[in-house]
Amino acid sequence: MREECGIIGVYGVESASELAHVGLHALQHRGQESAGIVASDGSEIQSVKGLGLLSEAIDASDLQDLPGHLAIGHTRYSTTGSKRVQNIQPLVIEYSEGIVAVGHNGNLSNAKELRNRYQSKGAIFQTSSDSELIVHLLADPDWEPGSDPLAEALRRVEGAYSLVMMDSDQLIAARDPHGFRPLSLGRLDDGYMVASETCAFDLLEADEVREIEPGEIVRINENGVTSSRIVEKSRCKPAMCIFEYIYFARPDSIMGGQSVHATRLKLGEKLAENHPVDADLVTSVPDSGNSAALGYARASGIPPDSGFIRNHYVGRTFITPAEEARASKVKIKLNVVKDVVEGQRVIVVDDSIVRGTTSRERIHTLREVGAEEVHLRISAPPIRCPCYFGIDFAHEDELIAANRSVEEIRDFLGVDTLGYQTLEGLMESVPGCGENYCRACFTGDYPVEVEQDMHKYALEAQRG
Ligand code: AMP
Repeated sequence: MREECGIIGVYGVESASELAHVGLHALQHRGQESAGIVASDGSEIQSVKGLGLLSEAIDASDLQDLPGHLAIGHTRYSTTGSKRVQNIQPLVIEYSEGIVAVGHNGNLSNAKELRNRYQSKGAIFQTSSDSELIVHLLADPDWEPGSDPLAEALRRVEGAYSLVMMDSDQLIAARDPHGFRPLSLGRLDDGYMVASETCAFDLLEADEVREIEPGEIVRINENGVTSSRIVEKSRCKPAMCIFEYIYFARPDSIMGGQSVHATRLKLGEKLAENHPVDADLVTSVPDSGNSAALGYARASGIPPDSGFIRNHYVGRTFITPAEEARASKVKIKLNVVKDVVEGQRVIVVDDSIVRGTTSRERIHTLREVGAEEVHLRISAPPIRCPCYFGIDFAHEDELIAANRSVEEIRDFLGVDTLGYQTLEGLMESVPGCGENYCRACFTGDYPVEVEQDMHKYALEAQRG
């Protein structure tokens, strides 16, 4: 499991590709598998792409080949389609109306059906990514004259999409009618930008204008910014992914009018209210539990401390099985500070438990160095159901909370007590009305129907 994707678009500045490149650094946490930038000077569209972290995928000197006032960029962790070079986004595709480039964050939940339909008519796909379907729909010659082909195309897809698109002289941003994935509009001195998260605006000194609305298409070109609808506002049912607040988004991003850090502090405070315990210190599992641990410590009056130190340089290091026999990946990534926890009653705060395997190993390391008691507090409710909208969660069989009680999970993890966030606590902590979020991973109540066998490699399996 990993994060999903980060998208960015820049319009109306000199060397837009350089700004997109800088901004993508702030979105690296949303995907480390590949990165790409596409730029236009008004007549020619050029692109640079590669596998790996942004620094590995794109060399700053490559940007000289990407001149122009318009650029889009993408960092990817695949949620549909595997890690292959053809799948690196933004996709650049030539069709009857010219060249179009697309960067997509999210998962289309009717991708298999749509792809089958096109393939049965002889269409050829270059990638195994669901994002390519959007271009096939856009290129459909049967749209009524006078209609907006992009809006028509997007009305045919279901599921999650935050998109950045461009042709040679226009930047387009769009968000699905549920607004599953975040997307915001920002103002640069001489132009505009859009990005998955506002932490990218901070880096480029852009001011946030607003979030792109669910069901909205925003076009930015020499005439300024225009907005149109995929679906009327009254027919949009907001269902933004609540897990963005719990885990994905960076704490310094503004979502729903407040920093994600502020939301996570509240999650920690709620946990302290609902699951108090007498202990000597509160430690987070860095970095995912940092803000919630602080909230727990403040609300409980128990001092925060650093029980774990994270090694920031091993994120994607390949560890051979032989090496893993000597030192587990979990231990390489996170080390316990012995003098902090030895002989202490420790409250550990993390954001979520997915499979339970890494949490179990971390708890074991605390015990090894002599923690007297370990009390685990989780700022999300139990994850019971898979996600079909862009989070690469495990299959249901692998989700530890899918069919185990909290007591069984406590026993598996080897902690003295285990306290999860309640669904109510979560809904009260996020900005606005808690009902306006997708909470399907906790409740199984999916905002749109999903193709049951839709999984990460579904479009590859079709190729036989
Ligand atoms: P586990 O104990 O194996 O369930 O892993 C739990 C850890 O995974 C927690 O520290 C979470 O921060 C982290 N986590 C949660 N969601 C994801 C995700 N989608 N991808 C990667 N890690 C995640």
